[in-house]
Amino acid sequence: MIKAVLWDVDGTILNFLVAEAAAIRKLFAEFHLGTCTDEMLGQYSAINVRYWQMLERGEMTKPQILVGRFAEFFAANGLPADVAEAFNAAYQIRLGDTICFYDHAEQTLKALQGKVLQCAVTNGTKLAQTRKLAASGLNELFDYIFISEEVGAEKPAIAFFDRVFREIGSFHQNEVLIVGDSLTSDMRGGENAGIHTCWFNPYHKTKDVDVRVDAEIDDIAAVTDVMRRLADV
Ligand SMILES: [Mg+2]
Repeated sequence: MIKAVLWDVDGTILNFLVAEAAAIRKLFAEFHLGTCTDEMLGQYSAINVRYWQMLERGEMTKPQILVGRFAEFFAANGLPADVAEAFNAAYQIRLGDTICFYDHAEQTLKALQGKVLQCAVTNGTKLAQTRKLAASGLNELFDYIFISEEVGAEKPAIAFFDRVFREIGSFHQNEVLIVGDSLTSDMRGGENAGIHTCWFNPYHKTKDVDVRVDAEIDDIAAVTDVMRRLADV
């Protein structure tokens, strides 16, 4: 029986792409960088994902990836790369301004409240995540919030999950489920921690990483069915 659910936040409960696009567009105007087109946003998103993967692999530090992604993006578009640091600092604040839930995410969290232990497990920065969790009301729905910057380790590192298990108390690995959109941080992290894994794949991407996925869903409401199914196994 599943007694605790570890929820990834960005790209799983909250539509990160919508928040990201709104924040970047606003900051392009504030920093007088001209217009950020849809094509440029797509390019930025791809760069951003690549930088976070470098962090997951331990190839760069968090400050390096946060500024580096914007420096590369600006340089690729003939914009001044030296504003990347100030831009990122403002972005950490702006990112919490736009809240967009995935369909059924908020309802599912509310329906499970009090029935299972619910924890946020996120690799975002403390500043951005704290603002976002407060603005969305999500901090009221979670029993625990684990932000990698505070934990001192990033998903998928086992050190991150060791800390989660230390804090939440005595749960058997078999009683814990992680739900997330990332194969390399959430599913890999769940595999490393020996817990059940549920991949939220709303855009039906190909599973291009060799990692254990116990359930795949494209709607967050299906998490309750997954929990029921795992209880029967
Ligand atoms: Mg995510």
